[in-house]
Amino acid sequence: MNAHPAILRASVAADGRLISADAPILALQREAGGALGEMLAVPALAAVARLVTRLGIMVSRPVVAAGLTHDVDMWVRARPDAGGVAMAIVDWRERPAAGPMGEEAERQASFAASAEGWIWQVDPAMRFTLCLPGEGPDGALPDPAPVAGMAFTRMFTLLPDADGDLAILGAFARRQPFERQHASLRQGGGAAVLLSGFPLFDAMGRLMGYRGHAAPDRGHAAPDRSDEAEAATGAEGAEPMVGVDFSRRLDRSLRLPLGRIIANADSIAAQMDGPLRPDYAGYATDIASAGRHLMALIDDLADLQAIDRPDFAVAREEVDLADVARRAAGLLGVRALDRKIRIDPPDMDEAMPAIGEFRRVLQILVNLVGNAVRYSPDGSQIWLRVDGDEAEARVTVADQGPGIAADMQDRIFDKFERLGRDDAGGSGLGLYISRRLARAMGGDISIESAPGQGARFTLSLPTG
Ligand code: ADP
Repeated sequence: MNAHPAILRASVAADGRLISADAPILALQREAGGALGEMLAVPALAAVARLVTRLGIMVSRPVVAAGLTHDVDMWVRARPDAGGVAMAIVDWRERPAAGPMGEEAERQASFAASAEGWIWQVDPAMRFTLCLPGEGPDGALPDPAPVAGMAFTRMFTLLPDADGDLAILGAFARRQPFERQHASLRQGGGAAVLLSGFPLFDAMGRLMGYRGHAAPDRGHAAPDRSDEAEAATGAEGAEPMVGVDFSRRLDRSLRLPLGRIIANADSIAAQMDGPLRPDYAGYATDIASAGRHLMALIDDLADLQAIDRPDFAVAREEVDLADVARRAAGLLGVRALDRKIRIDPPDMDEAMPAIGEFRRVLQILVNLVGNAVRYSPDGSQIWLRVDGDEAEARVTVADQGPGIAADMQDRIFDKFERLGRDDAGGSGLGLYISRRLARAMGGDISIESAPGQGARFTLSLPTG
């Protein structure tokens, strides 16, 4: 298997012609019967280019391309560029061509199958940005699954190899792929896992983080949790659904199938496999967005169940509210852009140290900024500002929406309270959960608003 560590680049004109390409991509183009200056002939890459041209946004996804003697697994990031498409390819991996498309060959033809287990992605600070179930039998996410913002090392205890080395550390330092890093899950039974991953670069060559797989480590004795897991989802279902069991049931019975429905609906809507009648593509978009809404509701219900438990606890970490505010703004940037709403985060050089649990603070801010986006008019602006004193650090989210009347301001923190709204956008749980979390961290959420004047939500947290 050949792996090209560098980024490979290609550019495609608006009409689909390949204008420039690094040698391995050009070789694929030739094997597919094309040449430089002719239409991009590698179907999987041409589909990505078409998608970028049609949607006018950046697309980042795994692609498998078939060559004459070998197949290539790669990760493609493609963005609109001067009327055409600029492609940057990382993790180019060649492997012998799959034989006739049997079930196994088909399985191999997907990225998820190029390694077992589930898929994770982290930012350059090694905090999770994404995790997805894999397609193989070991593809289920661990329980509890990592959430956006959680440190990689809070999920995994990294184990040295026989020489006492950690493969992952050397790879990170050199920005190279790594394989077979032994680790164990910190929670949920401490199962042994094998990690592999590769660096992600943006089109300018800057490191965006790492993406990889976590697969069961069969070489290491690990506690067998399958019986337990079966028991939790067993047909009898006689045991009470508490704590971890509840969350595991949610994953098995709702999150996983729903995740598949959303992913499939998304790819139908994006017409990756060819054009569709516009109304069908529209249905698929509706299915994906209803699925996302349901998924958010499931997450809220799982949170509700966790925070209402007597043993609910939060970690005490040093967090920088300015940094978390910038991340929340980044996470919601695309949704805001859809509505032409501008989010103005704290400046890069601002800092506002506080004590709280990073992922919970991020969750609160994503909720507050998400509400600000949802309830503000198109073309308006949202500000995130930090301030504080010795005892307390604060971050405020201010919007130009309809605001909330004084006599309603307490009610919005109640469970399922939506102030009479019946749009499909929310569950009425966000502020209830956010305030419970803020109070569990020794802080609070307050609101200042008058009808027609926008809303200002402030999260305060202790500084020590
Ligand atoms: P959801 O947004 O899912 O309905 P929340 O608990 O987050 O639930 O919010 C409760 C209600 O408070 C919302 O339904 C909305 O009526 C009101 N609300 C929240 N944030 C804002 C805001 N920024 N501007 C106006 N109204 C808001």
